[in-house]
Amino acid sequence: TKWVYSFSAGNADGTGTMKSLLGGKGAGLAAMSLLSLPVPPGFTLVTSLCNYFSLNNQTYPPNVKDQVAENIVSLENLTGRTFGNESKPLLLSVRSGAPISMPGMMDTVLNLGLNDKTVIGLAKETCNERFALDSYRRFIQMFGNVVMGIDMGLFEKVLHTKKERYGCKTDIDLTSEHLQAIIEEYKEIFKTQTGLDFIQDVDTQLWFAVNAVFKSWNNDRAITYRKLNNIPNDIGTAVTVQCMVFGNMGNTSATGVVFTRNPSDGTNEFYGEYLVNAQGEDVVAGIRTPKNIQLMQSEPEMGEMYLELTRFRTILEGHFKDVQDIEFTVQQGKLYILQTRNAKRSATAAVKIAVDMVAEEILTEQEALLRIDPHSVSQLLHPAIDPTGKKIVITKGLPASPGAASGMLCFSAADTDEMSQRGNVILCTEETSPEDVHGMHISKGILTKRGGMTSHAAVVARGMGTPAVTGAGNINIDLNKKQLTIIGNDELLLKEGDIITIDGSTGEVMNGLMKTIDPDLSLEFETLMQWADNTKKLDILTNAETPLDVQRAKRFGAKGVGLCRTEHMFFQSDRITIMREMILANNADNRRKALDKLIPFQREDFKQIFSIMNGYPVTIRFLDPPLHEFLPEKEEEIDQIVKSSGMDKDVIKKKLNGMKEANPMLGLRGCRVGIVYPEIYLMQSRASLEAAIQVAEESKIEVEVDLMIPFISTEEEIKIIKKQIDELAEKLLPKDKRLVKYRVGTMIELPRAALQAGAIAKHAQFFSFGTNDLTQTCFGLSRDDASSFIDHYENIGVIDKDPFVSLDTDGVGELIKIAVERGVKTRSDLKLCLCGEQGGDPESVKFCHDVGLHAVSCSPFLVPVARLAAAQAAL
Ligand code: ADP
Ligand code: MG
Ligand code: MG
Repeated sequence: TKWVYSFSAGNADGTGTMKSLLGGKGAGLAAMSLLSLPVPPGFTLVTSLCNYFSLNNQTYPPNVKDQVAENIVSLENLTGRTFGNESKPLLLSVRSGAPISMPGMMDTVLNLGLNDKTVIGLAKETCNERFALDSYRRFIQMFGNVVMGIDMGLFEKVLHTKKERYGCKTDIDLTSEHLQAIIEEYKEIFKTQTGLDFIQDVDTQLWFAVNAVFKSWNNDRAITYRKLNNIPNDIGTAVTVQCMVFGNMGNTSATGVVFTRNPSDGTNEFYGEYLVNAQGEDVVAGIRTPKNIQLMQSEPEMGEMYLELTRFRTILEGHFKDVQDIEFTVQQGKLYILQTRNAKRSATAAVKIAVDMVAEEILTEQEALLRIDPHSVSQLLHPAIDPTGKKIVITKGLPASPGAASGMLCFSAADTDEMSQRGNVILCTEETSPEDVHGMHISKGILTKRGGMTSHAAVVARGMGTPAVTGAGNINIDLNKKQLTIIGNDELLLKEGDIITIDGSTGEVMNGLMKTIDPDLSLEFETLMQWADNTKKLDILTNAETPLDVQRAKRFGAKGVGLCRTEHMFFQSDRITIMREMILANNADNRRKALDKLIPFQREDFKQIFSIMNGYPVTIRFLDPPLHEFLPEKEEEIDQIVKSSGMDKDVIKKKLNGMKEANPMLGLRGCRVGIVYPEIYLMQSRASLEAAIQVAEESKIEVEVDLMIPFISTEEEIKIIKKQIDELAEKLLPKDKRLVKYRVGTMIELPRAALQAGAIAKHAQFFSFGTNDLTQTCFGLSRDDASSFIDHYENIGVIDKDPFVSLDTDGVGELIKIAVERGVKTRSDLKLCLCGEQGGDPESVKFCHDVGLHAVSCSPFLVPVARLAAAQAAL
């Protein structure tokens, strides 16, 4: 079996498509080698070894060691250096790389092959003792930490103390003597922590490091990350061993990270950072503040490298047809590429890049549509800070991940869990590291003092879609007192729990809570959505009842209201008393009196919605929830009813008592109310139709109104109600009915209705699947009580996903299929829609497309998500 795949500029055993075998990094290196880019030579141990290793007591199959040894010889021949040789030592990096990018989960060991003897050889050979010693001290530190598990803080403390003692501001100010002293102390730490002298045998170093990478697959950090991101546990990581190149060889050397386009806003510009005379993770770790890559052009020693980088940028984007995130190192004026991968980007950037790449003929429209994760689209719609509000900007950092967020200051990722119980949290730290990922997930926003646009905090936040401001250098965090101050502002002191606002689009940090507004949608977004609309088969409607929501949904592209929950309109304070009066009325007369007071409100609401929708269909769902939701609880509320209705208080109280239900969710609700008290649904019919007529006449638009009856379980129910509505309509609608088109239909939200769809469709002109109740009744799972165990069910794999979030296609889905089939058999032009919470879930949208529904309806912010998901379903 071939366990080891080699690569070097111009040659590779593997290819760029072999991600699952070589890991993302290994596959990227193979691809770049085949493109003849300057990649330092190396080899990759395949991912399947990772599983073998953990299942077989940390051993390897036969041949692995031989194959590695052969590859080392090849590297020696290619470089003219020898592993462990005292005069011309071959130095290696040992890198991890899973098939799916797991940023920062497993660490890299650089400069492997250095020991007390080879370091002297390296110093002589390069005539640069300082460089050799710097590399050695880094190696001991990384090897000690990553491979042997020694606390990084122990090394950092030594480095820090020495720098202070010698008066050095940064690492590069340390001289050979200083470094020599640090190395001695590092070795001491190594000895006391592990009981071993620092390992001198280079083969042992190599296998320790390789083992450590495979072991790290199962460390807590990696396991948590996989769980959070739904990455399977058995795919394993590959290990890449590669010849070192050195960015720390002086001022003609450097290391950096570049994105082929701006990953924050998508602008087609080179974007990134570099550090002169530095190695490896110095750039991302925020140890020194890196320089903007644009500055590289004008540095005399680096200008040429910049041009070469831009050439590689075109080659790599052309090859991968996607934005790349590239790691490079310059060693004494020679450029090497160490890694490339598809860049993580904000949702804004993803849209712009996809649309731009169509214009540049890199992608087709269809490919562009498939590039965007529908879930991420809702980020674009998220509120920005209201520019007219008064802003108290206290400091500024880098706009690392767009969007605005407000919340309580929290200074430690570990505290976010608890604090978030009390409200939104903004995590504020010096910088972040992989241990903080869990806390970052919980936080609504992230603010760091150090680190650039490619720092851990920035990359992770962009991936999560969480607003972030990084590198806000003027904040001073006092961890002990849990407070922060701003350099140059003596007045301001913010404590844990104080509210701040960050704007990840501008980098501004503000004191207090800021008002936010809906953002402008970009031209590229509109273009992409246009393509989506041209591609999709489903109509996307919205669940909304307030004019504000309806307006917003229309702006987001809703082609109608699929669910207008009329009862929501009754909760407002000027109406609730009348509503109660109506429910508690002791006879039909009193009830009608109350209804007469309600009708103007309802008609006015509907008129506004029809006007906004301007000819698009509006589905009005009649009163549905259990009536007890409206009932008064406090004495003064009852008094108000007495006052407004003139009814006797005792009568009201008696009626209240009589209305108690053991299980209101399955009690007197939905169409049952409409059957028992016909005047209620008649009032709603009248309000809808009169509003439709008025709007149609006033603005000469055709109004299409769908009257939707909830909670139907028998044919007889819909038959009775349909007849009443038709009789009323006959009276109300003008002889020339053309301007108002109405239909009567049902929600399918009870299993019996789904099964009886054929009979129900005789009277219903449309179905809308109310998948919240349908899920609840299909599973026998109370949606108000499920949260206490649904998480547990998900964790132990009883269910895949919360069925209230993503449609249960097996069970609830089967009911939908049955209802569609039986309904359409009765009425071939039956209109079919889904209007549960799941209507904004991309996978559920795909299901709706597949079973042949005509529309889905979802909350306003999810309309674009559903549009894109519907397009992807059609591709
Ligand atoms: P990560 O998965 O965290 O990105 P990498 O394996 O890419 O880890 O290593 C991190 C950094 O180490 C790289 O960005 C690069 O700067 C440095 N590095 C890795 N391999 C080499 C090498 N062969 N020569 C020089 N630097 C290297
Ligand atoms: Mg790393
Ligand atoms: Mg890397």
